[in-house]
Amino acid sequence: MLNNNALSNHLWVNGRACQARSGEQFECLSPRDGTLLTTVAAGDKADIDLAVSAARAAADDWSRLSPQERRQHLLHLVDLMESHREELAQLESRDTGKPITHARRDDIPLAIRCVRFYAEAIDKCYDQIAPTASDVLATIRREPLGVIGAVVPWNFPLMIACWKLAPALAVGNTVVLKPAEQSPLTAIRLAELATEAGLPDGVLNVVPGYGETAGASLGLHPDVDAISFTGSGAVGRLFQRYASDSNMKAVFLECGGKSPQIVFDDAENLDEVAAAVAQGICYNQGQVCSAGSRLLVQRSIADEFMQRVLAHVDRWQLGDPKDDSTTMGAMIERQHLARVQNLIDTGHEQGAELVYRGQSFDSLEGFYMPATVFDHVSRGMTIAQEEIFGPVLAVTRFDSDEEALAEANGTRYGLAAAVWTSSLSRAHRLSRDLKAGTVWVNNYDGSDITVPFGGFGESGNGRDKSLHALDKMSQLKTTWIKF
Ligand code: NAD
Repeated sequence: MLNNNALSNHLWVNGRACQARSGEQFECLSPRDGTLLTTVAAGDKADIDLAVSAARAAADDWSRLSPQERRQHLLHLVDLMESHREELAQLESRDTGKPITHARRDDIPLAIRCVRFYAEAIDKCYDQIAPTASDVLATIRREPLGVIGAVVPWNFPLMIACWKLAPALAVGNTVVLKPAEQSPLTAIRLAELATEAGLPDGVLNVVPGYGETAGASLGLHPDVDAISFTGSGAVGRLFQRYASDSNMKAVFLECGGKSPQIVFDDAENLDEVAAAVAQGICYNQGQVCSAGSRLLVQRSIADEFMQRVLAHVDRWQLGDPKDDSTTMGAMIERQHLARVQNLIDTGHEQGAELVYRGQSFDSLEGFYMPATVFDHVSRGMTIAQEEIFGPVLAVTRFDSDEEALAEANGTRYGLAAAVWTSSLSRAHRLSRDLKAGTVWVNNYDGSDITVPFGGFGESGNGRDKSLHALDKMSQLKTTWIKF
């Protein structure tokens, strides 16, 4: 069992632990019971400057290693992540309030698989020769961008950090990672493991700190070549502004969503569909960018289908994240709990019909939110438009395919969507016309490291995961050789 006194709570810069230059710290509270887990060094501009200098100093040597050598380094890190699986899962669950069973089953194995995937991929990627005239050779090579700033949210802290740093490092970039202030612990531990695994100093630096200080300094830094950001749209916009106010660095954004699940009356096995709808909104307490937070259901089956959905939502067990039987743990922090409750209140005020509120959980002083379902939600309502990022489902009924499509596309987001139907042509038509980076047909949340993930519209512009992320983390160089 991890002792709180043993939690790593420092910055990791140039292969070493250090305190913030300012000496400032911030409190890391347990979402489970509201107690203090530890205090963490609060990096700010001075620390970001040091971390970026370390990353820059390490960049040339790291990029000149052969892909096979970088692969070996990353695989050593994978080995250490494997041997610290349980510790990392405990850290993630404690820091975020997510059920320990989910941290063990999902967060940590998926983070490990991600690092392994890019390590294994990088020495199997070829560059190109253009089909030019025969007296000239034009090569098209992928080169690293240089120093990558990675800024990540708190909902899947280690996994999303790995989506960024693994392809970046594999290509030959160095990284300064700023974890969310709500969940810095696994990132710090990962950096320690990376150094223990033999990653050269300065290649991976971690600077915990607040967004307005550490995050902004990274975004504004003139010697950072690209930012890979996952978080809210509001902060994503700031990063675009930081880039234009500094060195025009590339900015890749993975932002929020308001993803619809569209259920037609010809869908097969409505009970399985209802289970997927419940999972789509209850998993990780609804704090998932691609949560299926809107259910669009065909009117002819709506009443019967809603009974099934509510029965499945009711099976999600809100409780102590430490208990193996818990499937819904705590929300990340008190302010977020209050924000979600405010949006629920707005749903009432605007006339949506509350049809389900789960059992509350009061045994601990943590931040627990019961699952909530609103029916008869119309497009203009706040709860149909705003990302709530909590276990709150907004249900809308429709009659025709056209109406379903208009509802589904009727937000500024475009992260994901699902279509449940047994009609092949309808499935094809809707997956073509839905404005979303991912469309699931007769499943929800299908995901693998081999498949890109990212959004349309205000859900962002970058793609994490898959071999496409290697392109994102590199730039193309063309060389003309005349002979
Ligand atoms: P957030 O935007 O508040 O914070 C994200 C990161 O940005 C944190 O590290 C934070 O410290 C930093 N930050 C905050 N303010 C900043 C500022 N002024 N300048 C620079 N950096 C700043 O988001 P969050 O609350 O941590 O995460 C929830 C959001 O993340 C949701 O909108 C969710 O949809 C989104 N998300 C998207 C994806 C995806 O892949 N598309 C995945 C997970 C989460």
